[in-house]
Amino acid sequence: MENERLSNPAAIPSDDRVDFALRPRLLSEITGQDQIRENLSILLSAARQRKEPLDHVLFYGPPGLGKTTLAHVMANEMNVSIKITAGPAVERAGDLAAILSNLHEGDILFIDEIHRLGRAIEEILYPAMEDSVLDIMVGKGPSARSIRLRLPHFTVIGATTRLSLVSSPLRARFGAVYRLNYYDLPAMETIIRNASGKLNIAADEAGIHEIAVRSRGTPRIGLRLLRRVRDYAQVRADGIIDKDVSQSALELLNVDRAGLDDVDRRVLLTIIEKYRGGPVGLSTIAASISEESDTIMEVVEPYLLQLGFIDRTPQGRCVTAKAYDHLGIPLPENKENGKEPDPAPKQANLF
Ligand code: ADP
Repeated sequence: MENERLSNPAAIPSDDRVDFALRPRLLSEITGQDQIRENLSILLSAARQRKEPLDHVLFYGPPGLGKTTLAHVMANEMNVSIKITAGPAVERAGDLAAILSNLHEGDILFIDEIHRLGRAIEEILYPAMEDSVLDIMVGKGPSARSIRLRLPHFTVIGATTRLSLVSSPLRARFGAVYRLNYYDLPAMETIIRNASGKLNIAADEAGIHEIAVRSRGTPRIGLRLLRRVRDYAQVRADGIIDKDVSQSALELLNVDRAGLDDVDRRVLLTIIEKYRGGPVGLSTIAASISEESDTIMEVVEPYLLQLGFIDRTPQGRCVTAKAYDHLGIPLPENKENGKEPDPAPKQANLF
């Protein structure tokens, strides 16, 4: 997929082209995720020393934290090719058979959104991952028979935002499973500083700090904000990103000091205003603000949980005192006294 896109650079939107240029190529260029980096470095060195293909690796965590980047880094470090696909793209058994039979010894097959692979497809993947064989059915009806083809030894790198949706037999086929965490502030500052350097953007430390603080610990968001602040600096200021320029640009983008955007605020305000601060179910929140449940579950909720702005209880999500404080909304009396909030209005459950 990547190679296809590269063959026609004009077809790639400019932001994506910038992203591609910024992608770290080697493990030493990766900022943050120290523990994963160390584990990967051992995994890579051991495989190189033994001259064997890498074990299968599964990365999970919210979008934009570097799962795809790490897969590319591993291919570069091993000096092998990487083929890229995604769970929803592999619809039929034949699709996977075509991909697998085109792999070479040591190649990496990166499967994004691996939790969306169909069960029938997974069944074909198991023997391929375990024994490097491909079982395919030939013919139909009573004359159908299965033939077994040998495959080269290859490595699957899977990525998912929803580990709980990856079936346990599939999970068990991975020799290493790593969870990517949100990046801390110094790591985000380094990522943004490095990107400004590579893109020749003039930015001072205070300007970089403002962007890093609002990047919700996610490189993809940090890099996107950097590009938008650069546009603002170019059009409305003298081209230099300092604290004031960053702040004004980010305010215009509706990204607040905690990195919350419109959707995050709508989620919090909906729970507060319609459901008295919760508890309320996630699908009810999603329906109330006309957003996809998946977006709320994969992007919004993990960050609000990380900030301590919502609590997850068996009855549903509740907004915390910290979030009321951040939004400048007085805490309702029942919450102040530490009492359970009144149950949400009955019709709330109808959604
Ligand atoms: P994911 O696959 O988890 O959604 P990506 O690997 O596509 O995330 O990363 C999103 C963007 O963030 C890419 O442009 C990548 O260059 C950048 N990025 C991710 N992790 C890092 C990192 N550790 N250091 C520098 N840039 C990073």
